Amino acid sequence: MTATEKEIKEGGPVVVVPERMMVQRAKTHHGTGFAASLESARSELNAMDLDENPLGSPGGSSSTSPVTPGSPVTPADLPTADTFAFAFDIDGVLIRGGRPIPEAIEAMKMLNGENEYGMKVPYIFLTNGGGKTEAERCIDLSRQLDIEVSPAQFICGHTPMREMVEAYGTVLVVGGEGEKCRQVAEGYGFRDVITPGDIIKDNADTTPFRKLTKEEHSNSKKRNFGEVKIEAIFVFADSRDWAGDIQIILDLAMSKGGFIGTLSETFDEGPPIYFSHNDIVWSAAHDNVRLGMGALRKMIEMLFKDVTKGKELDTIAFGKPQIGTFEFATRLLQQWRKDEHRCNAPPDTVYFVGDTPESDIRGTNQFNDKSKNDWYSILVRTGVFQEGTEPAYKPRVTVDTVLDAVKHGMKHEFNKKLRAASGGLPLHTLAMRNFSLNGETPVGTKTPILEMSESNTPEGASTPAVAPGQ
Ligand SMILES: [Mg+2]
Repeated sequence: MTATEKEIKEGGPVVVVPERMMVQRAKTHHGTGFAASLESARSELNAMDLDENPLGSPGGSSSTSPVTPGSPVTPADLPTADTFAFAFDIDGVLIRGGRPIPEAIEAMKMLNGENEYGMKVPYIFLTNGGGKTEAERCIDLSRQLDIEVSPAQFICGHTPMREMVEAYGTVLVVGGEGEKCRQVAEGYGFRDVITPGDIIKDNADTTPFRKLTKEEHSNSKKRNFGEVKIEAIFVFADSRDWAGDIQIILDLAMSKGGFIGTLSETFDEGPPIYFSHNDIVWSAAHDNVRLGMGALRKMIEMLFKDVTKGKELDTIAFGKPQIGTFEFATRLLQQWRKDEHRCNAPPDTVYFVGDTPESDIRGTNQFNDKSKNDWYSILVRTGVFQEGTEPAYKPRVTVDTVLDAVKHGMKHEFNKKLRAASGGLPLHTLAMRNFSLNGETPVGTKTPILEMSESNTPEGASTPAVAPGQ
């Protein structure tokens, strides 16, 4: 079962990806390597009812052990933090203009065990960007950050669109380099994918000032568009030709039922239009922010109103800050913790690190209002947000870089444990030895020991509950 357009629209002008859209899909697309790993993770994810059964049998470690190709490079015997995790936006936080932000590499090392607590901390990536397969993007990220990133810990803007393959037959896919987004869509399982290039190849008058290059002409597929009903439009990635893409999207929005070349009399029978996110601007290599997909969306909606003399066009956006994207992230993180870190329960706290108040911080805060666990928003100064301005949505904390964000989260966890263990006593009365960031069971031999500067505490005065249970 897949949600229909009507069902999705009932959620409001921008969609909250319904739960039911996330929990189906035939296992028909298996590849190798990263792709297989992603598919395997998602298949398992889909088969679970995470609300009712928090990851397997109570108290036991996971019985499944599909160690994915994305295993972090970490000392094998380090314990894993079992009560908290991190989630990262990418552009403006870890990467800018195709290059890693210098502190990002150190931040990743810290999460992978190179920290004063002697812990590994689970993490996932949640970006609105896209335009490549998840597997390809993970390979890029692995190289840039000097770690191994698995698709099983990665969500990009168009990832949730894979859940809509059953809803539509023929779809128009817009954005990205060359044929890449057609390939991504076909990889998701969309059965009949058309690109703007196909439409221009069929009728070059569609876009008077946009001519296909020889390569584009040869890649584009000749169709008889008089017979083709386009059932939905998906903007997968940023447009490389705004004028041409806007023209074609408007043509379809104003068409009779999705047939190119027709013109509706009522302008209310075009196909639904989905965007993989709604960020108006994003942080690229330029000193100032650049226009993003949200700007294209805004233009299309405004132009539609103009050319139809007042009709409204309701389009739909995925990605952050949509709640559905964070729900998707929750389940991915839970599965990742189970498979990769043997953490058999949801984390109490997820630290989300982002650079865009309107999507990262807004989404995290909104999701926190309804989530059972604590989603803790951290804003960094390396991207869209600029110091001296007032963020439209307030984070719990603002720090300079992603490394500061990781340090802040770990320190915050440590202080929480310390307060809990002190039972209300002043912290300086608490023995700091044998204290870790981890869970409930007694201290084991692998438990990291923290030597604190407060040395006036009696040895063994307190036995803080700790240890990773592994
Ligand atoms: Mg960003």
